[in-house]
Amino acid sequence: MKAIIIGGGIGGLCAAIALQKQGIEAVVYEAAPELKLVGAGVGLAANAIQGLQKLGVAEEIIARGKQLTALVMLDGQGNIISNMDTQPLSKAYGVNNFVIHRADLHEVLAKHLQPDSLILGKRCAQVTQQDDQVQVTFTDNTQATADLLIAADGINSVVRRQLLPQSQPRYAGYTCWRAVIDNPGVDLNMMVSAETWASQGRVGMAPLPGNRVYWYCCINAPERDERMRQMTPQQLANYFEDVHAPVPAVLATTKPEQLIWNDIADLEPLQKFVYGKIVLLGDAAHATTPNMGQGACQAIEDAVVLGQCLAQEQTMTAAFAKYEKRRVARTAKVIRLSRLLGAVSQWQNPMLRGTRNMAFRMMPKFITQSQMEWLYRVDF
Ligand SMILES: Cc1cc2nc3c(=O)[nH]c(=O)nc-3n(C[C@H](O)[C@H](O)[C@H](O)COP(=O)(O)OP(=O)(O)OC[C@H]3O[C@@H](n4cnc5c(N)ncnc54)[C@H](O)[C@@H]3O)c2cc1C
Repeated sequence: MKAIIIGGGIGGLCAAIALQKQGIEAVVYEAAPELKLVGAGVGLAANAIQGLQKLGVAEEIIARGKQLTALVMLDGQGNIISNMDTQPLSKAYGVNNFVIHRADLHEVLAKHLQPDSLILGKRCAQVTQQDDQVQVTFTDNTQATADLLIAADGINSVVRRQLLPQSQPRYAGYTCWRAVIDNPGVDLNMMVSAETWASQGRVGMAPLPGNRVYWYCCINAPERDERMRQMTPQQLANYFEDVHAPVPAVLATTKPEQLIWNDIADLEPLQKFVYGKIVLLGDAAHATTPNMGQGACQAIEDAVVLGQCLAQEQTMTAAFAKYEKRRVARTAKVIRLSRLLGAVSQWQNPMLRGTRNMAFRMMPKFITQSQMEWLYRVDF
C-alpha cells in the first residue's frame, strides 16, 4: 500500500512514522523548501507521550525537553489562583506536563522517517480521486499518485478547503506572541509552567533545557490587527509593566527577531474526517485553540490511531471508518473545552474576573485533576 501525506508538521511526520512502522510506503510532501528549525515551545501531556512511545520515539524526545512538576495559574500580582501538582498524573499515566522546543521535536521526528520519504518544496494545489487511486497535483504542476492520502496540512488545509469549502478557521478573539529566549538572569521556578491571568491579558512561561525560557502572551484584539502585528517585545513589556516579576523583564529582553505572532483560531468541529481515500489529520481536521495545550497532542494521537486502524482492519475503508469513529468525538470535545477555557481566561471585566478567580481558588484539587484525566486515558 502506498500513502501520500500532505504536510510535514508534527501530525504529518508522526503519521509517516506510524504508517511506515506498518510496512506502508508513506511519503510526506511539505510545502516549505527546508525544514527550518524554528518555532517556540510546545507542551505535551501524558496522552501525547503515550502516543510517542507507540511510535518508538518517546525516549529521544523526552531527553530533549523538560518535565515539569506543577501547572500554576496566577493573578496579575502573582497570587496563586490554582496550583495543580502534575506528579500524581505522571505516576498514573506516564510523563505529563512536558515542554520541548518545537524545533527539537521536529528534528527527532524527521530523523525517524525512512530515507527519502520527506520531500520538501512541494505545495499541494489540488487532489483528485479516480477508481482505486488518489492523485495530488502540486503548484509546480508535478503529480503524485497513491492508494490513500492523508491531509496533514494544518488549519488552512488546501485539501480540506477543496473537500469542505465551508469549513474555515474561526478567530477566537485574541492574538498571541511567543518566543524562546535565553534566561536573562531572572528568578524562575525551573519545575513549573505558569500562566498569569492579568487584567490586560494572559502571559505564560515555562523553562526549557539549556537555561532557556519559553513564554507566550495573549491579548484581546480585532482579527489581523495591524497595530498588533507591529508590536515589539518592549511594547509588550510596557503593556504588561504592572504584572508581577519576572514578566516585564522576560518580555523586554526578547529580541524582535525571536518574536512569533499569530491570531488564535480554531475550526468548528467536523462530523467527518474521511472522504473516500482521503483522510484529514491534525489541525487540518480539528484545529483547536492552544488553551489546553492539546493541538499537537491530538495530532500525535491521530497518527497512532490511524496506524493501528490500518494494521488491524482488512480493508482501507474499514480502517478509515474506525479511525473516524475513534477520533471525531474526542477531538470535538477538546475544541469546545479549549475555546471555552480561552474565553474565560481572557475575561477583562473586573467582576467576572474576580468571581472566576474565586471559583478556581475554591475548587478542590481532585476536581481539577479528574477533569483532565479523560484526556490521559487514551484508547491506544
Ligand atoms: C500559540 C500556540 C501555542 C500552541 N501550543 C501548543 C502546546 O503547548 N501543545 C500542543 O499540543 N499544541 C499546541 N499548539 C497547537 C499545535 O501547534 C498544532 O496543533 C500542531 O502544530 C498541529 O500540527 P499539524 O502537523 O497538524 O499542523 P501544522 O503544524 O500546521 O503543520 C502543517 C504543515 O503542512 C505544511 N503545508 C501547509 N499547506 C501545505 C500544502 N498545500 N502542501 C504541502 N504542505 C503544506 C506546512 O508548511 C506545515 O509544515 C499551539 C498552537 C499555537 C498557535
